[in-house]
Order: sequence, then structure tokens, then C-alpha cells
Amino acid sequence: MFVIRIKKRFIIILFLALIALIATVYFSINSVFFADSNVNEETKTESHSEDEKVEPKETNKNKKFIKYVEFNPTYEVLERAMNEDIKSQEKDIKINWIEVIAYLASVYGGDFKKYKNEDMDKLINDLKNGENIDNKVKNSKLYSYYKEAYSAVLGGFLGKYKIQKNPEDKDSNNWEEKYGLKVFSPIAKTFPFCHYDDFGASRSYGYSRPHLGHDLMAATGTPVIAVESGTIEAMGWNQYGGWRIGIRSFDKKRYYYYAHLRQNKPYHTDIEEGKTVKAGDVIGYVGRTGYSSKENVNNISQSHLHIGLELIFDESQKESNNEIWVDLYAITKLLEKNRVAVIRDNHTKDYNRKLDIHILED
Ligand SMILES: [Zn+2]
Repeated sequence: MFVIRIKKRFIIILFLALIALIATVYFSINSVFFADSNVNEETKTESHSEDEKVEPKETNKNKKFIKYVEFNPTYEVLERAMNEDIKSQEKDIKINWIEVIAYLASVYGGDFKKYKNEDMDKLINDLKNGENIDNKVKNSKLYSYYKEAYSAVLGGFLGKYKIQKNPEDKDSNNWEEKYGLKVFSPIAKTFPFCHYDDFGASRSYGYSRPHLGHDLMAATGTPVIAVESGTIEAMGWNQYGGWRIGIRSFDKKRYYYYAHLRQNKPYHTDIEEGKTVKAGDVIGYVGRTGYSSKENVNNISQSHLHIGLELIFDESQKESNNEIWVDLYAITKLLEKNRVAVIRDNHTKDYNRKLDIHILED
């Protein structure tokens, strides 16, 4: 009798465990499918092992392209390398900041927690003394990987441009040629904002997922600036992002995603899908829309700009299960050096940039 009762219990427990297993599998399949079909931004990630980084993709004519990037050079590393690059432009030996950062990444295996100032000092010194970086990294597969990956992230950041000296003066001599940061902070000058590194933090609206972007807390109505020039690929309502804009860099490698824009007037009047924008243009206004399948709903408690940066090495990655989103915390800090002054047009109620810019191709 007793033995039979135990057996019965055992069978019941086994049965319940089986149901739990089936339910878990069902829900995980469902959530993956949901992610694929409904959400293309602000979403998913998969875990990859280090050795998967440059694996060929069989289904795509055996094309090889980078499938995974973790971008974690700190603000200090970015700033120092950038300044060395800018300073070197007037000298015979030019220093390329992307190569410097990629070299350090190849030494640290991509982990910038291992960064030491002396390492950068030594590298910069060697380069200034005429050493060639390609000789230093002979046969380093890691270096080529990081150079390609970081070039995709930072490729559009430094270069030559002309900027207006004075907005009132339309004279052609009123332009100043410069070499430096030609990308801008996503928040207009003098408008306050705060942020911390929230990349990968968990989000639960819809389904549990990591935060694949960067949040800048700012008041509703704060002008949002296009970080880099590019083509507007997406606009309008998205269940997660609310009123959003997606801008693709001209080299097609970077997709900037700006979300939760203001209710009722999310965009600058000139903004239209398919149009191009210039780095530093006002594109919209901070708000708290999103988290609703219904349009124009304020479902986010605190107004903020969500900005995301997706890397695209192959078009098949753009809306896929393997999207590569970059942590923008250090980059946003770097961009604070370049904030755009704006003025309000009382007729259109839009803000516009004070000084125009021409990006010069090398
Ligand atoms: Zn966000």
C-alpha cells in the first residue's frame, strides 16, 4: 500500500515536471518569435562566444562578416586617443585613433578594465618615433577584427569639416575649416540632461530583455540632435520606442535610433522618411511616448531620449536575431564636447541650429 502511494506521488511529480518543461519551451519559443516579428529596435540580444566573432555565414553566399561586437573602451581612452589623432594632423606622422584603440583592444582581448595609461603612452611614443602599427601587430587576427569593428563604430566621427563663424554673415569667407569631431551630442547645447551606463540593464515591458541603448534623462521638449549625417530610414510609431526616428549613416554601417519622442509634436517640421539630415540638425524633441500599441500614448513615466546605435556589416543583420547594438555611454560623454547651439523659430515653434556645417570628404 505504502509503496504504491509513493509510486503514485512520484508519477504525479514527474507529470507536473513534464508540464512545466513543455510550458517553458513553449514560452521561450514564443518570445523569440515575438521578438522577430514585432520588434526591430530596442530589443534582443543573444549570447555569443568569443570564437564566433568572424564566423562565415553559410546562408549568405559564404560571405564573411563580423557578427558580434562589444564596444567598451572608456571615455578616457576615447578622449586621449582622439586628442592624439587631432594633434598629429599638423605633424608629419599622423596618428589614427581607431588604430590606437584597436591595438589596445587586441592586447586586452577587448577588455578595457585592463587599460593602463602607460600602455597608451608607450604606443603613442612608438608611433611618434616612426614605428608602424602594422609591424607591431603582425599576424594579429584580433587586431584586424578590432580595427574593422571599431572603424564601424567610430568611422564617421573624426574628419575635416567647415563650420560657419557667424550665422548673420552669409559671406563665403565666413567659414572656418577644421579637423576634429564632426558628430554631435544628441542633446542640444545648454539643455540639461543626465545619464549613467544603463546598457544591458533589464527591461520588462512586453517581455524580458536587455536594454540595448542609452537613456538620456531630459525635460520634455528638449531638442534632439542628429549625431551623424545620414538618411532617415524609419519614422513614426513603434510599440516600444513610441515616436521614433532611425537614421542610417551614409557609409551604411551605423543605424542611429532615437525613441520616445514628444507626444503630439515629436519631429522637426523638415524631417521626412527618405530625406537626408546633416550632423547637428534638430530632428525632434524629447518626450515619453511608447510602450503602447496605440499611437501617440505617453506610457513612459520619466521623459528621456533613448538613443541606440546598431552596427551593420551585412544587410542581413539589420533586422535579425543577431543585431549588434553598441553601448553609447562613453561615446555620449565624448560627444558632450560637441553640443549644438539652437534657436527657436516662433512661427514654426521648431528649434534650428545656429551654425551650419559642411562635412568635407577626405
Ligand atoms: Zn532606453
